[in-house]
Amino acid sequence: MEKAIVVGAGPAGLVAALELVQHDYDVIVVEKAPRVGGLHRSFHYGPFTFDVGVHCFDTTDQEAIEYVLSILEHDYRLLPPRAAYYLHGRYLRDPLNNLTELLKLPASLLIRGLVDFACRPRRPWKASLEEFGRSMYGTSFYRALVQGPVEKVVQRPCADLHPDTAHLLNVNIPDHRLTGSEIIGKVIQKIRGAPHQNNGQRTEAVQLYPASGGFEVFVQKLAQRIRQRGGDILTGARISEIRCRQGRVVSVTIDGREYPTDWLIWSGSLNGLMRLWGLEIDGVPASAMILYNLEVKGTPLTDYLWIECWEPSMLMSRVSYPSSFRPENAPPNYHGLSVEVPCRIGDRRWTAPEVLVDRVKRDLTIMGLLTDATEVVACHIERIPAAFPILPWDYEQTIARAKEAVRQRADNLILIGAAAGRIGKMQNDQITFARRMVRQMLMSRTIATTVSSKESLVAWRATRRE
Ligand SMILES: Cc1cc2nc3c(=O)[nH]c(=O)nc-3n(C[C@H](O)[C@H](O)[C@H](O)COP(=O)(O)OP(=O)(O)OC[C@H]3O[C@@H](n4cnc5c(N)ncnc54)[C@H](O)[C@@H]3O)c2cc1C
Repeated sequence: MEKAIVVGAGPAGLVAALELVQHDYDVIVVEKAPRVGGLHRSFHYGPFTFDVGVHCFDTTDQEAIEYVLSILEHDYRLLPPRAAYYLHGRYLRDPLNNLTELLKLPASLLIRGLVDFACRPRRPWKASLEEFGRSMYGTSFYRALVQGPVEKVVQRPCADLHPDTAHLLNVNIPDHRLTGSEIIGKVIQKIRGAPHQNNGQRTEAVQLYPASGGFEVFVQKLAQRIRQRGGDILTGARISEIRCRQGRVVSVTIDGREYPTDWLIWSGSLNGLMRLWGLEIDGVPASAMILYNLEVKGTPLTDYLWIECWEPSMLMSRVSYPSSFRPENAPPNYHGLSVEVPCRIGDRRWTAPEVLVDRVKRDLTIMGLLTDATEVVACHIERIPAAFPILPWDYEQTIARAKEAVRQRADNLILIGAAAGRIGKMQNDQITFARRMVRQMLMSRTIATTVSSKESLVAWRATRRE
């Protein structure tokens, strides 16, 4: 029986581990946190359930939907698409490329924005997010709709970031400079309510949430299936060494014990892997976040599932209602408010988040989400050290350098997951990619049994060039 060690028990690692046990691999999953789930975990405080901010499966990808449904055993809820943006003291319904919503913006911003839009600069050959955004929207709309929201979350200037950052953070930025007629076409399409377009095919986006618990039900079901098939999951475990011989990982030392292995699947951070090998190559940095999970008396004051807070003067980047995802996430006559406040590890927000509780309640009152701060009966604070990847303008080269270092050291090490350099906005992308990489790995094993080992190595290397 071939052995595989999977590092990280977030969705990417667990999906890969399940594929492997289903193909009779002897699998050990190593997770440094005390429990499985990664960003898919949930928090339980008595009868209240919260997730890591907003979490639902939101995709048009049929393969990912079918896979998620098979793991959830069709025990799911479909969520209504009700989200909003809060800016200049107003709520704008998602999607923003709807004329009636944009007309809610202050007249001064609209007029300035339209003038700037008409004379927006050309995009330079290698653009930062700032240059890219200005060339798309003109300066005023760029500042309000891109710079404000992005810099709030990643806490870095857009001038230092790659344009991909905007996609990652759900800031709707087109990938090419739109012409006037394209913009009108898009507005008409939205007003008519046309479904999402995907590679020329019409597909409806769905938003799914587990029916029988918090969002973590998905990862718990994965973990349960892995264990049922004989896989081992070690939580709170620490890797101290990865030994390689002749271009292959041969063993991993976990909590002081050496485990031999044939494959290593890594969904932890690239930086962590580089550090273990003593290499001075950076991976992708990540932004941190404080979650203020509030227990609140009464029913929600809006019908939105979540609100992206783009107002620069407010602390939070997003607010969501867990009981709108699933009513049982809060007891009767109460609701939860999950408030995402971006920060940097070690800054004042990170070290003393409790100091900001009153400010959070004040901002929620200004936004009209609380009538009065006394409605909050409890506030639970959670720290999320690695929330969203930060993409400096040269991130592709950085990741390529780190991947090359991995390739040179070990042919049997596979990188999957967001922190290991798979930059995809949504978890469905992480799930599909993890499954594809494992399938390619299994294919290489089949090749190895039918052709010479040299040929199999060449074939395997070719699949890893992605
Ligand atoms: C606030 C927020 C909201 C989001 N909402 C959505 C949403 O609604 N829809 C959506 O599709 N996506 C959403 N995402 C993105 C989604 O959560 C990620 O794409 C997904 O979790 C990535 O999965 P992963 O397994 O790669 O990483 P993670 O979930 O981060 O899991 C990685 C795991 O590896 C472990 N690990 C790391 N290093 C090591 C090590 N050295 N040893 C052992 N273990 C290690 C970590 O502890 C962690 O458990 C959201 C993200 C955030 C931050």
